[in-house]
Amino acid sequence: MTHPAQPKASHFINGAYVEDTAGTPIPVIYAATGEQIATVYAATPAIVEKALSTAKEAQKAWGKMTGTERGRILRRAADIMRERNHELSVLETYDTGKPLQETLVADATSGADALEYFGGLAGSLTGEHIPMGRDWVYTVREALGLCVGIGAWNYPTQIACWKGAPALACGNSMVFKPSETTPLCALKVAEILHEAGLPAGLYNVIQGMGDVGAALVTDPRVDKVSLTGSVPTGKKVYAAAAAGMKHVTMELGGKSPLIIFDDADVENAVGGAINGNFYSSGQVCSNGTRVFVQKGIKEKFLARLAERTGAAVLGDPQDEATNFGPMVTENQMNIVLGYIEKGKEEGARLICGGKRADMDGFFVEPTVFADVTDDMTIAREEIFGPVMSVLDFDTEEEVIARANDTEFGLSAGVFTNDFSRAHRVIAQLEAGSCFINSYNDAPVEAPFGGVKASGVGRENSKEAIKHFSQVKSVYVRMGDVEAAF
Ligand code: NAD
Repeated sequence: MTHPAQPKASHFINGAYVEDTAGTPIPVIYAATGEQIATVYAATPAIVEKALSTAKEAQKAWGKMTGTERGRILRRAADIMRERNHELSVLETYDTGKPLQETLVADATSGADALEYFGGLAGSLTGEHIPMGRDWVYTVREALGLCVGIGAWNYPTQIACWKGAPALACGNSMVFKPSETTPLCALKVAEILHEAGLPAGLYNVIQGMGDVGAALVTDPRVDKVSLTGSVPTGKKVYAAAAAGMKHVTMELGGKSPLIIFDDADVENAVGGAINGNFYSSGQVCSNGTRVFVQKGIKEKFLARLAERTGAAVLGDPQDEATNFGPMVTENQMNIVLGYIEKGKEEGARLICGGKRADMDGFFVEPTVFADVTDDMTIAREEIFGPVMSVLDFDTEEEVIARANDTEFGLSAGVFTNDFSRAHRVIAQLEAGSCFINSYNDAPVEAPFGGVKASGVGRENSKEAIKHFSQVKSVYVRMGDVEAAF
């Protein structure tokens, strides 16, 4: 019997599902059981061509519509996503293994927020009037044209919407390639957008591995590439886009610091560290995986952290009582277990977790290491799993220098009850998305993105509009033209 997660076809192009079984088969494995629940096929060159040519053509009319007309469709899509939240959350759970308790509140809902927010902004995208004496200049905010979105596997619905909603609001078309690990949810986003009235060809989804992504990035018809992925992939995609002088947004990896001062509220700090390390089983780019704890509060913090982490409920992700799911794939589980072994070998003190959970599926126990030092592998490399490193510190100046001593710069957090210190420290941290007495909030109204190797550009908020549009300026002379001859 066909599993309910099996999509109608692999791709969604020109307003309809399209299949081409000549492509490489991509099995979809449910991370909680290891069973294959669906198969899709990687895009063949013919599918890539169909998606790009359709999107290029469809954009011309879409770009000429008023922003209000475009926004109305996006807002309708947001309503449909909310109505179908339960069904979409179940699918997100099959696609990623994340517990339904999370997906019900963090995925289709976040996608719907993006569609609603950018749908609302679409009608307000105007230029400026710049007086020049008798003459004047006016500016027009124009679409870029054809945009490519490439997704990671941790938030397949959210990523498809965070890229698609601002792109479409600004009058662009999009070809979106989900991660080969989680190919299912973006197809639903395309289906819903078209159900909401999006003209055919404007939001297309095609499947495939890195080679399909590369074929999209290098195509001369493409004007912009927005990638969510790892730093090594980001470097390749950025270079390929630069060769064609294309616009880019790069949402890449991190190894973010979370700094907890002695005067912080311990329960809130522990809650922040849990949210910043164990949500989505640690598969979150902005996670605060280097938890710097000032020495005076350290033992109290570790004791409560171990107690509260012990209350995590591992189990069937489709059961709403479960609050901690498996790693997305067996491979990712093995990578994470390898880092845990490295942590033990290099002398970190294991506080809790530290091994594969004794159950079916790719579960790794939520793991905390204390006495971690800056040079340990687990403190330097992005693990992308439920492994928290707790490091000690004495002074504010010291912790700022150590927090910044990384190639990454996605996020940073500070817990303290001294608000002047909070702002003083945040001001010196090299990170794009920061938190004070909180961690990992990502509302659509706030810009999201990194500095240093963690990325280029911002998603969400009005900032995203700048990255999906360009400004034309027009000088208007009211008098005669003076010329030298
Ligand atoms: P990945 O870099 O392996 O793959 C990301 C996407 O790029 C996939 O769709 C993949 O098929 C595609 N790809 C690979 N090579 C390509 C190429 N040469 N040209 C074009 N596309 C190519 O990342 P992943 O393992 O899927 O996701 C995990 C990573 O994503 C982590 O590093 C994580 O931090 C990062 N991430 C960042 C954010 C953010 O917003 N900053 C959000 C989620 C995940």
